[in-house]
This record gives sequence, C-alpha cells and structure tokens, in this order.
Amino acid sequence: MAEILKANCRICNYKVEVKYGGGKFDYLTNNPVPAFNKTTEEIESVNFLTEKENSNYVFYSNDEIKGDNEDGYIFRNFDLELNQINNYCPKCKNYSLTFQSYIYS
Ligand SMILES: [Zn+2]
Repeated sequence: MAEILKANCRICNYKVEVKYGGGKFDYLTNNPVPAFNKTTEEIESVNFLTEKENSNYVFYSNDEIKGDNEDGYIFRNFDLELNQINNYCPKCKNYSLTFQSYIYS
C-alpha cells in the first residue's frame, strides 16, 4: 500500500519525493498523502487522518489542485485519488506537476 512517489514539474523542474499511503501496520493511524503547504509553498507528505481539516494544507486528492489528467494513471488509496499528470505546481503555479511511482514498500 505505501508508496513513494516522485513529483516533478515539467516547466520549472521542481522535484520532491513524497509518501503515499500508510504501511501494513500503521495505516489506521498514519495515511501520508502529498499536500501543498500554503505557508512554505512546498509539497509534503501529510497525515490525512490527522490533518484533513487543517486549512494550511491542500491535499493532492482534492480537485482544487488537479488539472486535466488526460490519459494519466490514477493512484488510489482507499477513497483518495491522485492524478498522475497536470497537478498544481507550488513553485511556478502551473498545472504541470507529474507524480510517478518510485518505490513500493
Ligand atoms: Zn513548476
């Protein structure tokens, strides 16, 4: 279930690695989902279970920061879905960020 994703912007080359999904033993309390941190303007892995009401974060499962996924893959984690392509980039503010699966653990 737990996955490491690489986020990469095709316009400004912003790159970050994020966790998606909890592990076999902690998924009930820890469910990291890539989120845009409005204060730092960075993407972080944030525990959706404890921070979903925190207005400082916009999770990439939220339609607000998704663009057109075209024929992209959808990463599923319970009822959360991440689009593979055309997500909001916190640096250049275009819908140009791609998530790629990197490591399963
Ligand atoms: Zn960018």
